[in-house]
Amino acid sequence: MSLPTYSLVIPVYNEEESLPELRTRLAALLDQLDGPGEVVFVDDGSRDTSFAQIEAICHDDSRFKCVRLSRNFGHQIAITAGLDAASGDAVVIMDADLQDPPEVVLEMAARWRQGYEVVYAVRSERAGETKFKQMTAAMFYRLFRRLTDLDVPLDAGDFRLVDRRAVEAFRSMRENNRYVRGMFSWIGFNQTGVEYQRQERFAGETKYPLRKMVRFAADAVVSFSDAPLRLTLTFGFLMSVVALLFGIAAIVAELAGLYRVPGLASIAVLIAFIGGVQLIVLGVVGAYVARIHDEVKNRPLYLIREVRGLVDSVVER
Ligand code: UDP
Ligand code: MG
Repeated sequence: MSLPTYSLVIPVYNEEESLPELRTRLAALLDQLDGPGEVVFVDDGSRDTSFAQIEAICHDDSRFKCVRLSRNFGHQIAITAGLDAASGDAVVIMDADLQDPPEVVLEMAARWRQGYEVVYAVRSERAGETKFKQMTAAMFYRLFRRLTDLDVPLDAGDFRLVDRRAVEAFRSMRENNRYVRGMFSWIGFNQTGVEYQRQERFAGETKYPLRKMVRFAADAVVSFSDAPLRLTLTFGFLMSVVALLFGIAAIVAELAGLYRVPGLASIAVLIAFIGGVQLIVLGVVGAYVARIHDEVKNRPLYLIREVRGLVDSVVER
């Protein structure tokens, strides 16, 4: 069998309700694309019937393939596993919940044919997501851009089409802390966006509750920017300058005979404040040390339990 032109990489974690509809829509998309295509599902340790369904789909239709991870490794790692297994000249990353409408891929493919190596999808509208999520996301992307000097597109998620060259560039980056959309900005090449309306989740609920969103954002900043570290340095200097000025003021007051016994409260507040600042700074440094610790362990990014429709050599990676 010749290699597919298009690969659709779909991370799946407990998406049993969406899978039947997803399959229908993906099969229709594969028929419409201007070249042969494959779908690579990555079962990210689902605990529901997702894998059984995927297995049946792969059995029915050889264009559907699956990598099953040994446990839940998280969305960003699941995407990475899919990119490792995909063999198309153009690889599309999309969600399993149909929030990213498969039909947009046709538009992306047209852009790819024009010579763009990365075609990301920009959300012009986000249905079914809370105002809070939309607002915090908008703020975060803007902040991230300023912190990193990376040309990350605003309001784009992981839904994108990536040319083989860009896939190989991405695959050469084996860092443990993976912020996939940032990594795709980092690699460069010719990039462009297409607009689309993000749909409501077809079924089930989001796997990104607020707690995970905050973590995701912090991970993104720490893996792409050392601004927080530099900020602590600036802050330390500022505090020292303030302390120095206070010291001078105290000496002047003493010499001028203005000296009064100061209140205990102000000293207590100062000590508490300095202590707090030091802990914050330590915490920031700790966040970076934790990342270093993660990286030096040099563990594989994920472990595969089994594959369907793919050669076993994928398992070796
Ligand atoms: N997902 C995954 N592993 C996880 C969490 C999510 O593979 O640990 C998949 C999930 O099945 C979906 C995609 O990643 O296909 C995006 O997740 P979700 O739709 O919950 O995120 P949201 O769109 O709400 O940001
Ligand atoms: Mg979703």
